[in-house]
Amino acid sequence: MSKSSLLEIIKARIHKNGPLSIADYMEFCLGHPECGYYMTRDPFGAQGDFTTAPEISQLFGEIVGAWLVDQWMQLGSPEKFNLIELGPGRGTLMADILRTAGVMPGFLQACQVHLVEMSPVLKSLQQQNLGTAPCPILWHKNIDNIPDEPTLIVANEFFDALPIHQYVFQNGAWHERVILIENNQLTFSTAPTDQHYGPATEGEIKETSPATEAIFTNLLHIVHKQGGSCVFIDYGYDQDAFGDTLQALRKHQFSEVLSTPGEQDLTAHVNFARLQELAVAADKGQAELVTQQQFLQQNGIDLRLNSLCRNKSAGICAKLRTGANRLLDPAQMGELFKVLTYSYLKV
Ligand code: SAH
Repeated sequence: MSKSSLLEIIKARIHKNGPLSIADYMEFCLGHPECGYYMTRDPFGAQGDFTTAPEISQLFGEIVGAWLVDQWMQLGSPEKFNLIELGPGRGTLMADILRTAGVMPGFLQACQVHLVEMSPVLKSLQQQNLGTAPCPILWHKNIDNIPDEPTLIVANEFFDALPIHQYVFQNGAWHERVILIENNQLTFSTAPTDQHYGPATEGEIKETSPATEAIFTNLLHIVHKQGGSCVFIDYGYDQDAFGDTLQALRKHQFSEVLSTPGEQDLTAHVNFARLQELAVAADKGQAELVTQQQFLQQNGIDLRLNSLCRNKSAGICAKLRTGANRLLDPAQMGELFKVLTYSYLKV
Protein backbone atom coordinates (compact mmCIF):
# COMPACT_ATOMS: atom_id res chain seq x y z
CA MET A 1 0.00 0.00 0.00
CA SER A 2 1.16 3.52 -0.61
CA LYS A 3 2.00 6.02 2.11
CA SER A 4 -1.17 7.98 1.40
CA SER A 5 -3.26 4.97 2.31
CA LEU A 6 -1.92 4.82 5.86
CA LEU A 7 -2.46 8.58 6.15
CA GLU A 8 -6.02 8.07 4.89
CA ILE A 9 -6.58 5.19 7.34
CA ILE A 10 -5.36 7.37 10.22
CA LYS A 11 -7.52 10.31 9.13
CA ALA A 12 -10.59 8.08 8.82
CA ARG A 13 -9.94 6.76 12.31
CA ILE A 14 -9.67 10.30 13.74
CA HIS A 15 -12.87 11.35 11.94
CA LYS A 16 -14.65 8.34 13.42
CA ASN A 17 -13.25 8.13 16.99
CA GLY A 18 -11.70 11.54 17.69
CA PRO A 19 -8.06 12.50 18.42
CA LEU A 20 -5.39 9.78 18.48
CA SER A 21 -2.97 9.38 21.37
CA ILE A 22 0.72 9.38 20.43
CA ALA A 23 0.76 5.69 21.41
CA ASP A 24 -2.05 4.86 18.95
CA TYR A 25 -0.30 6.86 16.25
CA MET A 26 2.98 4.97 16.81
CA GLU A 27 1.14 1.67 16.69
CA PHE A 28 -0.50 2.57 13.38
CA CYS A 29 2.73 3.85 11.85
CA LEU A 30 4.97 0.98 12.91
CA GLY A 31 2.68 -2.02 13.21
CA HIS A 32 -0.36 -1.58 10.95
CA PRO A 33 -0.72 -5.07 9.40
CA GLU A 34 -0.68 -3.87 5.75
CA CYS A 35 1.16 -0.57 5.78
CA GLY A 36 3.05 -0.28 9.08
CA TYR A 37 6.69 0.73 8.73
CA TYR A 38 8.18 -2.53 10.05
CA MET A 39 5.58 -4.69 8.31
CA THR A 40 6.58 -3.62 4.83
CA ARG A 41 10.37 -3.32 4.63
CA ASP A 42 13.93 -4.01 5.72
CA PRO A 43 14.74 -0.61 7.28
CA PHE A 44 18.42 -1.20 8.09
CA GLY A 45 21.72 -0.21 6.52
CA ALA A 46 22.95 2.37 4.02
CA GLN A 47 19.96 1.80 1.70
CA GLY A 48 17.50 1.97 4.60
CA ASP A 49 16.68 4.52 7.26
CA PHE A 50 18.94 3.68 10.19
CA THR A 51 21.56 1.24 11.38
CA THR A 52 22.03 -0.64 14.64
CA ALA A 53 24.95 -1.92 16.71
CA PRO A 54 24.91 -5.52 15.38
CA GLU A 55 24.86 -4.18 11.81
CA ILE A 56 27.83 -1.90 12.60
CA SER A 57 30.15 -4.47 14.17
CA GLN A 58 30.27 -8.23 14.82
CA LEU A 59 31.95 -7.36 18.14
CA PHE A 60 28.62 -6.23 19.56
CA GLY A 61 26.97 -9.66 19.21
CA GLU A 62 30.15 -11.43 20.25
CA ILE A 63 30.36 -9.55 23.56
CA VAL A 64 26.62 -9.97 24.21
CA GLY A 65 27.07 -13.68 23.35
CA ALA A 66 29.98 -14.01 25.80
CA TRP A 67 27.83 -12.40 28.52
CA LEU A 68 24.97 -14.84 27.79
CA VAL A 69 27.31 -17.85 27.90
CA ASP A 70 28.59 -16.66 31.27
CA GLN A 71 25.02 -16.33 32.59
CA TRP A 72 24.19 -19.84 31.34
CA MET A 73 27.16 -21.18 33.30
CA GLN A 74 26.12 -19.23 36.40
CA LEU A 75 22.67 -20.83 36.04
CA GLY A 76 24.41 -24.21 36.39
CA SER A 77 24.69 -24.92 32.63
CA PRO A 78 21.08 -26.22 32.33
CA GLU A 79 20.66 -28.98 29.74
CA LYS A 80 17.64 -27.25 28.29
CA PHE A 81 16.99 -23.51 28.20
CA ASN A 82 15.25 -20.77 26.20
CA LEU A 83 17.20 -18.06 24.45
CA ILE A 84 14.69 -15.33 23.58
CA GLU A 85 15.42 -12.37 21.36
CA LEU A 86 12.83 -9.60 21.00
CA GLY A 87 12.83 -7.63 17.74
CA PRO A 88 15.68 -9.49 16.00
CA GLY A 89 15.83 -7.23 12.90
CA ARG A 90 17.84 -9.04 10.23
CA GLY A 91 18.91 -11.81 12.64
CA THR A 92 22.50 -10.51 12.71
CA LEU A 93 22.76 -10.24 16.50
CA MET A 94 21.48 -13.80 17.01
CA ALA A 95 23.87 -15.16 14.34
CA ASP A 96 26.81 -13.47 16.11
CA ILE A 97 25.63 -14.70 19.53
CA LEU A 98 25.31 -18.32 18.35
CA ARG A 99 28.69 -18.28 16.58
CA THR A 100 30.34 -17.03 19.79
CA ALA A 101 28.40 -19.42 22.03
CA GLY A 102 29.60 -22.33 19.87
CA VAL A 103 32.94 -22.26 21.69
CA MET A 104 31.25 -23.30 24.95
CA PRO A 105 30.60 -27.06 24.99
CA GLY A 106 26.97 -27.90 25.71
CA PHE A 107 25.48 -24.44 25.18
CA LEU A 108 24.15 -24.95 21.65
CA GLN A 109 22.93 -28.49 22.43
CA ALA A 110 20.87 -27.11 25.33
CA CYS A 111 19.58 -24.02 23.56
CA GLN A 112 16.11 -23.45 22.08
CA VAL A 113 15.98 -20.06 20.37
CA HIS A 114 12.71 -18.07 20.40
CA LEU A 115 12.56 -15.03 18.14
CA VAL A 116 9.76 -12.55 18.88
CA GLU A 117 8.99 -10.65 15.69
CA MET A 118 5.85 -8.93 14.42
CA SER A 119 7.05 -8.20 10.88
CA PRO A 120 6.61 -10.86 8.18
CA VAL A 121 9.29 -9.18 6.05
CA LEU A 122 11.87 -9.25 8.85
CA LYS A 123 10.85 -12.77 9.87
CA SER A 124 11.68 -14.03 6.39
CA LEU A 125 15.05 -12.19 6.46
CA GLN A 126 15.76 -13.83 9.83
CA GLN A 127 14.87 -17.23 8.35
CA GLN A 128 17.37 -16.64 5.53
CA ASN A 129 20.15 -15.34 7.75
CA LEU A 130 19.70 -18.00 10.42
CA GLY A 131 18.99 -20.83 7.97
CA THR A 132 22.10 -22.72 9.05
CA ALA A 133 21.84 -21.87 12.75
CA PRO A 134 23.35 -24.54 15.00
CA CYS A 135 20.24 -24.89 17.18
CA PRO A 136 16.46 -24.96 16.72
CA ILE A 137 14.59 -21.67 16.26
CA LEU A 138 10.93 -20.90 16.82
CA TRP A 139 9.22 -17.66 15.82
CA HIS A 140 6.56 -15.92 17.93
CA LYS A 141 4.52 -12.75 17.57
CA ASN A 142 4.60 -12.15 21.34
CA ILE A 143 5.91 -13.74 24.55
CA ASP A 144 2.71 -15.54 25.55
CA ASN A 145 3.86 -19.09 24.78
CA ILE A 146 7.41 -19.45 26.04
CA PRO A 147 7.97 -22.89 27.64
CA ASP A 148 8.84 -23.08 31.35
CA GLU A 149 12.61 -23.53 31.24
CA PRO A 150 15.57 -21.47 32.44
CA THR A 151 15.60 -18.46 30.13
CA LEU A 152 18.10 -15.99 28.71
CA ILE A 153 16.65 -12.88 27.07
CA VAL A 154 18.22 -10.30 24.78
CA ALA A 155 16.77 -7.24 23.05
CA ASN A 156 18.61 -4.50 21.18
CA GLU A 157 16.63 -1.45 20.07
CA PHE A 158 13.33 -3.18 20.73
CA PHE A 159 11.78 -1.11 23.51
CA ASP A 160 12.40 2.17 21.65
CA ALA A 161 9.92 0.99 19.00
CA LEU A 162 7.10 0.43 21.50
CA PRO A 163 4.34 3.05 21.81
CA ILE A 164 4.62 5.90 24.30
CA HIS A 165 2.09 8.41 25.62
CA GLN A 166 3.06 12.05 26.03
CA TYR A 167 1.61 14.46 28.61
CA VAL A 168 2.12 18.24 28.44
CA PHE A 169 2.00 20.70 31.34
CA GLN A 170 -0.17 23.54 30.08
CA ASN A 171 -1.87 26.39 31.94
CA GLY A 172 -1.11 24.82 35.29
CA ALA A 173 -2.40 21.31 34.50
CA TRP A 174 -1.35 18.12 32.72
CA HIS A 175 -2.94 17.28 29.35
CA GLU A 176 -2.40 14.34 27.04
CA ARG A 177 -0.67 15.17 23.76
CA VAL A 178 -2.86 13.95 20.91
CA ILE A 179 -3.09 14.12 17.13
CA LEU A 180 -6.06 15.54 15.26
CA ILE A 181 -6.86 16.94 11.84
CA GLU A 182 -6.74 20.65 11.03
CA ASN A 183 -7.05 21.98 7.48
CA ASN A 184 -6.98 18.36 6.34
CA GLN A 185 -3.49 17.88 7.91
CA LEU A 186 -2.43 15.87 10.94
CA THR A 187 -1.50 18.19 13.78
CA PHE A 188 -0.56 17.97 17.46
CA SER A 189 -3.04 19.12 20.08
CA THR A 190 -3.87 18.37 23.71
CA ALA A 191 -6.77 16.72 25.50
CA PRO A 192 -7.85 16.45 29.15
CA THR A 193 -6.26 13.65 31.18
CA ASP A 194 -6.45 12.09 34.66
CA GLN A 195 -2.66 11.68 34.77
CA HIS A 196 -0.64 13.96 37.06
CA TYR A 197 3.13 14.25 37.28
CA GLY A 198 3.52 17.05 39.80
CA PRO A 199 4.26 20.69 39.02
CA ALA A 200 6.40 21.49 36.02
CA THR A 201 7.26 24.44 33.85
CA GLU A 202 4.85 25.41 31.07
CA GLY A 203 5.20 23.16 28.02
CA GLU A 204 7.15 20.41 29.84
CA ILE A 205 6.53 16.91 28.47
CA LYS A 206 6.32 13.66 30.42
CA GLU A 207 6.49 10.37 28.54
CA THR A 208 5.20 7.00 29.68
CA SER A 209 5.19 3.62 27.98
CA PRO A 210 2.65 1.20 29.47
CA ALA A 211 3.42 -1.21 26.59
CA THR A 212 7.12 -1.31 27.53
CA GLU A 213 6.35 -1.75 31.22
CA ALA A 214 3.88 -4.59 30.52
CA ILE A 215 6.33 -6.54 28.34
CA PHE A 216 9.22 -5.90 30.73
CA THR A 217 7.17 -7.13 33.69
CA ASN A 218 6.15 -10.26 31.78
CA LEU A 219 9.80 -10.95 30.92
CA LEU A 220 10.69 -10.71 34.61
CA HIS A 221 7.93 -13.25 35.36
CA ILE A 222 9.41 -15.60 32.76
CA VAL A 223 12.89 -15.53 34.34
CA HIS A 224 11.45 -15.83 37.83
CA LYS A 225 9.85 -19.19 36.98
CA GLN A 226 13.00 -21.25 36.41
CA GLY A 227 15.81 -18.73 36.69
CA GLY A 228 17.42 -16.70 33.99
CA SER A 229 18.97 -13.45 32.87
CA CYS A 230 18.14 -10.56 30.56
CA VAL A 231 20.17 -7.98 28.70
CA PHE A 232 18.39 -4.96 27.20
CA ILE A 233 20.27 -2.43 25.10
CA ASP A 234 18.70 0.77 23.82
CA TYR A 235 19.06 4.50 23.71
CA GLY A 236 17.51 6.07 26.70
CA TYR A 237 17.90 7.85 29.99
CA ASP A 238 19.00 6.57 33.37
CA GLN A 239 17.37 9.33 35.47
CA ASP A 240 13.63 9.91 35.37
CA ALA A 241 13.21 13.19 33.48
CA PHE A 242 10.82 15.38 31.53
CA GLY A 243 11.38 15.88 27.81
CA ASP A 244 10.12 15.10 24.32
CA THR A 245 12.12 12.19 22.85
CA LEU A 246 9.72 11.11 20.12
CA GLN A 247 11.62 11.12 16.86
CA ALA A 248 11.26 10.13 13.24
CA LEU A 249 14.13 8.92 11.07
CA ARG A 250 14.15 8.59 7.32
CA LYS A 251 17.21 7.84 5.18
CA HIS A 252 19.45 8.46 8.21
CA GLN A 253 18.02 11.97 8.76
CA PHE A 254 15.61 13.28 11.37
CA SER A 255 12.18 13.91 9.93
CA GLU A 256 8.84 15.38 11.04
CA VAL A 257 6.94 12.91 13.25
CA LEU A 258 3.64 13.57 11.47
CA SER A 259 4.94 13.45 7.90
CA THR A 260 4.68 10.32 5.69
CA PRO A 261 3.19 7.96 8.31
CA GLY A 262 4.35 4.38 7.76
CA GLU A 263 7.31 5.48 5.62
CA GLN A 264 9.71 6.46 8.40
CA ASP A 265 10.92 4.99 11.66
CA LEU A 266 9.37 6.36 14.85
CA THR A 267 11.04 5.84 18.21
CA ALA A 268 11.25 7.25 21.71
CA HIS A 269 14.06 7.04 24.24
CA VAL A 270 13.66 4.27 26.79
CA ASN A 271 13.11 5.27 30.41
CA PHE A 272 15.70 2.89 31.89
CA ALA A 273 15.31 4.48 35.31
CA ARG A 274 11.72 3.21 35.36
CA LEU A 275 12.68 -0.27 34.12
CA GLN A 276 15.41 -0.52 36.74
CA GLU A 277 12.87 0.54 39.37
CA LEU A 278 10.50 -2.26 38.24
CA ALA A 279 13.35 -4.79 38.34
CA VAL A 280 14.41 -3.69 41.83
CA ALA A 281 10.78 -3.73 43.03
CA ALA A 282 10.49 -7.38 41.91
CA ASP A 283 12.97 -7.97 44.77
CA LYS A 284 14.35 -11.25 43.42
CA GLY A 285 17.26 -10.75 41.07
CA GLN A 286 20.14 -8.37 40.47
CA ALA A 287 19.61 -5.40 38.17
CA GLU A 288 22.46 -3.33 36.83
CA LEU A 289 22.30 -0.30 34.54
CA VAL A 290 25.44 0.89 32.74
CA THR A 291 26.34 2.65 29.51
CA GLN A 292 26.98 0.64 26.36
CA GLN A 293 30.64 1.64 26.57
CA GLN A 294 30.91 0.30 30.13
CA PHE A 295 29.09 -2.94 29.31
CA LEU A 296 31.22 -3.71 26.25
CA GLN A 297 34.47 -2.83 27.99
CA GLN A 298 33.62 -4.72 31.19
CA ASN A 299 32.90 -7.76 29.05
CA GLY A 300 36.13 -7.74 27.10
CA ILE A 301 35.62 -5.88 23.81
CA ASP A 302 39.23 -4.60 23.78
CA LEU A 303 40.71 -8.09 24.16
CA ARG A 304 38.39 -9.48 21.52
CA LEU A 305 39.22 -6.66 19.11
CA ASN A 306 42.95 -7.26 19.52
CA SER A 307 42.61 -11.00 19.03
CA LEU A 308 40.43 -10.51 15.92
CA CYS A 309 42.99 -8.12 14.48
CA ARG A 310 45.93 -10.42 15.09
CA ASN A 311 45.93 -12.24 11.75
CA LYS A 312 44.09 -9.67 9.67
CA SER A 313 45.29 -7.19 7.08
CA ALA A 314 45.74 -3.58 8.16
CA GLY A 315 42.64 -2.63 6.14
CA ILE A 316 40.34 -5.18 7.81
CA CYS A 317 41.76 -4.32 11.22
CA ALA A 318 41.15 -0.61 10.66
CA LYS A 319 37.54 -1.38 9.74
CA LEU A 320 37.07 -3.47 12.91
CA ARG A 321 38.52 -0.65 15.01
CA THR A 322 36.27 1.96 13.39
CA GLY A 323 33.19 -0.19 14.10
CA ALA A 324 34.20 -0.80 17.72
CA ASN A 325 34.91 2.88 18.18
CA ARG A 326 31.44 3.81 16.96
CA LEU A 327 29.91 1.49 19.59
CA LEU A 328 32.18 2.79 22.38
CA ASP A 329 32.78 6.48 21.74
CA PRO A 330 30.77 8.61 24.21
CA ALA A 331 30.15 11.11 21.40
CA GLN A 332 28.62 8.34 19.25
CA MET A 333 26.81 5.31 20.76
CA GLY A 334 28.87 4.76 23.91
CA GLU A 335 26.87 6.87 26.34
CA LEU A 336 23.48 7.48 24.77
CA PHE A 337 22.96 3.73 24.65
CA LYS A 338 22.38 2.06 27.99
CA VAL A 339 22.49 -1.59 28.98
CA LEU A 340 20.19 -2.97 31.65
CA THR A 341 21.06 -6.46 32.83
CA TYR A 342 18.95 -8.51 35.18
CA SER A 343 19.95 -11.88 36.62
CA TYR A 344 17.89 -14.22 38.72
CA LEU A 345 20.16 -17.20 39.16
CA LYS A 346 18.68 -18.91 42.22
CA VAL A 347 15.44 -20.84 41.94
N1 SAH B 1 17.42 -5.81 17.22
C1 SAH B 1 17.61 -5.47 15.83
C2 SAH B 1 16.46 -4.65 15.24
C3 SAH B 1 15.95 -3.45 15.96
S1 SAH B 1 14.61 -2.66 15.11
C4 SAH B 1 18.94 -4.81 15.64
O1 SAH B 1 19.55 -4.44 16.63
O2 SAH B 1 19.37 -4.66 14.49
C5 SAH B 1 13.18 -3.21 15.99
C6 SAH B 1 12.80 -4.64 15.78
O3 SAH B 1 11.69 -4.92 16.64
C7 SAH B 1 12.33 -5.04 14.40
O4 SAH B 1 12.70 -6.37 14.15
C8 SAH B 1 10.80 -4.89 14.52
O5 SAH B 1 10.08 -5.54 13.52
C9 SAH B 1 10.58 -5.46 15.90
N2 SAH B 1 9.37 -5.02 16.59
C10 SAH B 1 8.99 -3.74 16.83
N3 SAH B 1 7.85 -3.72 17.57
C11 SAH B 1 7.54 -5.01 17.82
C12 SAH B 1 6.47 -5.64 18.54
N4 SAH B 1 5.53 -4.92 19.14
N5 SAH B 1 6.46 -6.98 18.62
C13 SAH B 1 7.42 -7.72 18.01
N6 SAH B 1 8.44 -7.18 17.30
C14 SAH B 1 8.51 -5.85 17.20
